[in-house]
Amino acid sequence: MEKFLFSQVNIPTKVTIEDLVENMKKYCQPTDIETAQLAYDFANKAHAGQFRKSGEPYIIHPLCVAHILSQIQAEPNIIIASLMHDVPEDTEITLEEIEKNFGSDIANMIRGITKLGKLKYRGMERYIENLRKLFVAMAEDVRVMIIKFADRVHNLSTLDSLPEKKRERIALESLEIYAPIANRLGMGEFKGLLEDLSFKYVKPKDYQRVKAIRDQNISEKNVYLDKIIKTIEQELKAADVHYVNVHGREKQLYSLYQKLLKKNWEVSNIYDIVAVRVIVKDVGDCYAALGIIHKLWRPLKGRIKDYIAQPKPNGYQSLHTTVFCDDGKIVEFQIRTKEMHQEAEFGITSSHWAYDEKGPRPSKKDLNWAKELAKMQQEILNNIKDLEEMKVDFFRNHIFVFTPKGDVIDLPEDATPVDFAYHIHTEVGNKCNGAKVNDQMVSLDSFLKSGDVVEIVTDKNRKGPSQDWLKFVKTHAAKNHIKAQLNSSKITWIKNLFEKKAK
Ligand code: MN
Repeated sequence: MEKFLFSQVNIPTKVTIEDLVENMKKYCQPTDIETAQLAYDFANKAHAGQFRKSGEPYIIHPLCVAHILSQIQAEPNIIIASLMHDVPEDTEITLEEIEKNFGSDIANMIRGITKLGKLKYRGMERYIENLRKLFVAMAEDVRVMIIKFADRVHNLSTLDSLPEKKRERIALESLEIYAPIANRLGMGEFKGLLEDLSFKYVKPKDYQRVKAIRDQNISEKNVYLDKIIKTIEQELKAADVHYVNVHGREKQLYSLYQKLLKKNWEVSNIYDIVAVRVIVKDVGDCYAALGIIHKLWRPLKGRIKDYIAQPKPNGYQSLHTTVFCDDGKIVEFQIRTKEMHQEAEFGITSSHWAYDEKGPRPSKKDLNWAKELAKMQQEILNNIKDLEEMKVDFFRNHIFVFTPKGDVIDLPEDATPVDFAYHIHTEVGNKCNGAKVNDQMVSLDSFLKSGDVVEIVTDKNRKGPSQDWLKFVKTHAAKNHIKAQLNSSKITWIKNLFEKKAK
């Protein structure tokens, strides 16, 4: 099975189940394809008689979402879930029925999407609540987010049929929340799509201006780049460097826009509007290719970047260099292996994941995911310019922490291991005798932080909670359980006393 993808994602306007099957055949087992066909029939029946704002039958939407996901070769269960992602929310069919027919893994992903509901800018409280749900859903199963991205990409591509207000809200939200998450997950392709599709609606004038700049640059450089690509291919071959592909790549519009803003719209100072991408077999070939390019053309000072030795925070790896080609024209090269390429464009879908009985999820040993998520949350919130006051509330109010298995638990800020223990189970709370946070023993009254992995040490001989715990627990649930348990031990003690006297 050829698992490598160069091509960019096409946003389909019309697809059939046959088109989807065609894509799945490239990397899925026949049984998965059969299940996808069943899921399609199931969703098609459920959405019968429903239409999109554009006037098309509703089923077109989930089918397009599945088609987008099949282009990035998302795992089969993601495709199957995506076909039914709007069923529980928009039809009479329940999640239970989906679970009965397609099993719990697929049903759980759809539950995650349904739980997210609709993020809304209007109504601060509801918005904060939804944003929190988004992070919790993502922490539980990141595949939910991948479906959500594809869902959003398709919705953005059909935004013209919605009223202006709604259009703006969806675009802004995609730009400020979804795109940065895609970026942090290392999904360059989705990040670019989400940004460029939203950009058009959020800043229409700037969008047109940037697009004109890019088109101009492409038409100026096209013939020239073809020549450069031929030269480099010949030289790589002559030097016996194994290259997979050499192609021109246009900069995404929104990221070009941000660069233009930084450089005061000085187009001549931007060298990577069109770049040449060299995809090679292994890391050794990357450095060999860099050497060949530098032998052919003189590099610009300070523009050689080794993201292989020092990857970007989201995991991006490549060698970048900018050189004076013939006639003094300046061209940027990006050199990477095909694994690095796949990783950069499709990120989290291609690796990072440990598979266990519940499907792909953050690896149990890899506590970094939790920390990443907490950092990501901070970044997203810093990104939302319009909602200054919300940041404060959001962080004052909530944290989320993980069980050693990677399940996410949502708690109020300053919650303690005892709150965590009672959240897991009343008995875990009552028998709680100690706690480990990120593998370190901590006291029971210490404050938990977002991203912590918490393990409760229980002692089955423990009599019950301590009165002192009431001084520091934060959740009502913990307080109530502790009080109830203390009361019942008192009652038992009094009862015992009477029974003794009676004897
Ligand atoms: Mn949808």
